[in-house]
Amino acid sequence: MIGSIAENILDGLAKEPYMKDGDYIGEGGLLYCGKCHTSKEKEINWFGTGIRKVAIMCKCEAAAFDERKRREQKEEEMQSLRRARISSMMDETFQTATFENYRKNGGNEKHLSIAKNYCTEFQKMYENNQGLLFYGTVGTGKSYTAACIANYLLEHNTSVVMTSFVRILKEMQGFDREREEAFTNRLNSVRLLIIDDLGAERSTDYALEKVYGIIDDRYRAKKPLILTTNLTLNQMQTASDIRYERIYDRVFEMCYPLEFKGVSWRKREAAQRYEETKKLLEG
Ligand SMILES: [Zn+2]
Repeated sequence: MIGSIAENILDGLAKEPYMKDGDYIGEGGLLYCGKCHTSKEKEINWFGTGIRKVAIMCKCEAAAFDERKRREQKEEEMQSLRRARISSMMDETFQTATFENYRKNGGNEKHLSIAKNYCTEFQKMYENNQGLLFYGTVGTGKSYTAACIANYLLEHNTSVVMTSFVRILKEMQGFDREREEAFTNRLNSVRLLIIDDLGAERSTDYALEKVYGIIDDRYRAKKPLILTTNLTLNQMQTASDIRYERIYDRVFEMCYPLEFKGVSWRKREAAQRYEETKKLLEG
């Protein structure tokens, strides 16, 4: 009997030894699983030639099969996320930035909620090529917040590159026209481009030309851009140097501005450390 079933074994079961210890012939003369006590065979009308028994998965085998499939799929997703992370160019220090780890400090709840909304509404933001501009003093969490957005979107199968103008310019050094074009094409191929620390680049004609070029390419590609900067809104709005003026004009056209202010995280932590040490030393 086992032989005739083995001939008809269904895909997926063929790899498993069909009859296992504890299996038994039960109701209707069918083979039953000794573990979950559901049948491992069913009778079908075999192309009009009569009734034949064919193998099916019992409940526990089906569950194990699903579990294996799920694990494989999960592993595939993890691998594609790892690949996406690598091509995101993101700094290692930002790879663990998530909304879950976000340190609320009584002043940044608005940043967190805007960043989250940006992610959940990303499809619309993308279609309207709507970006963000995080501006304000050093150490207030602008880059961290941008990295949270990057990581959220990467995990949701959206391509992101997060880098800085300083890094871009360094990378471009010595590129010929062809390589430079390939590089900027790469920046524009992703759905979201995040550039950290606008204004930290050197103010040479060459650097500012490249900065403008990258922002303008993004604008022409009709894709969103998130920028962070330590510059104030006023500094950007009143720039009288034409080289800066045209950069900031583009930025304001593409990016919704959000101010980050307050005591920097670094200062806050330094103050806390001071208090803790004071307590220890002075009692
Ligand atoms: Zn079973």
